[in-house]
Amino acid sequence: MDRAGAAVWTWAAAASEVLLPVSCAVCEEPGAVLCRGCHLMLRRSTVHPGELLAPRGLAAVDARVWAAGPYEHELASCVLSFKNGGRTDLAPVLGTVLTGVLLRAAQHVAPTGEPVLWVPVPTSTRARWKRWFDPVQEILARTSLPPATWIHRGLEHRHRSRLGATPQKTLDVAHRARAIKGSMRASGVQGATCVVVDDVMTSGATAAEAVSVLRQAGARVPGIAVLATVRAGCSPGADSTTAGSHVSEFPHSLN
Ligand SMILES: [Zn+2]
Repeated sequence: MDRAGAAVWTWAAAASEVLLPVSCAVCEEPGAVLCRGCHLMLRRSTVHPGELLAPRGLAAVDARVWAAGPYEHELASCVLSFKNGGRTDLAPVLGTVLTGVLLRAAQHVAPTGEPVLWVPVPTSTRARWKRWFDPVQEILARTSLPPATWIHRGLEHRHRSRLGATPQKTLDVAHRARAIKGSMRASGVQGATCVVVDDVMTSGATAAEAVSVLRQAGARVPGIAVLATVRAGCSPGADSTTAGSHVSEFPHSLN
């Protein structure tokens, strides 16, 4: 997002707080972005980020996955409300959750404090027009970064992406991987250690492409950090505004 876009985003977030009474993003109790009970539940479910078995879509690239928790309950509600429900006031809450994931990833990737670049998965032009902001970058901008680590926008979408022709959510895993192939390009990562950052991992196809493109550009990419992960085939639905029972599956936690 450029500087003008960021200014508009910040203004809109502030204006929405003034114009609309604040209510809990999960249970709608008036008074706060998240009520005390829902905040506690969110903290409980995300306080121990872990490494997960990579989904099938990531198998080819041999990358590790760190996540705050399963894509369900309070975490899913917050992510969906933030991305699709206009609840931009949840960015700091999700930033705190992502901070825990980045800390965990950094412990594994750079145990003695080696430099690490956090590289957000870029939003497609199509999604950016629809939402008018980039969810991953907004959340990432509100994290407390571990020492010796930096955010680097080293990936961007190619303009004439084949994803534009077919909405991703209508594709199965194999088709999705093929459609995503060639959709990104990397820059400024030669010789760097990079961890890809995304909000929700579903099939893993997008993350796999991000890892491949970064490696082709000369980066070492040990893994991916996400807020939440969903079992392949249980798509959260790009147009959803509430969390449904179909997103309650969670891959087996390794630790
Ligand atoms: Zn609540």
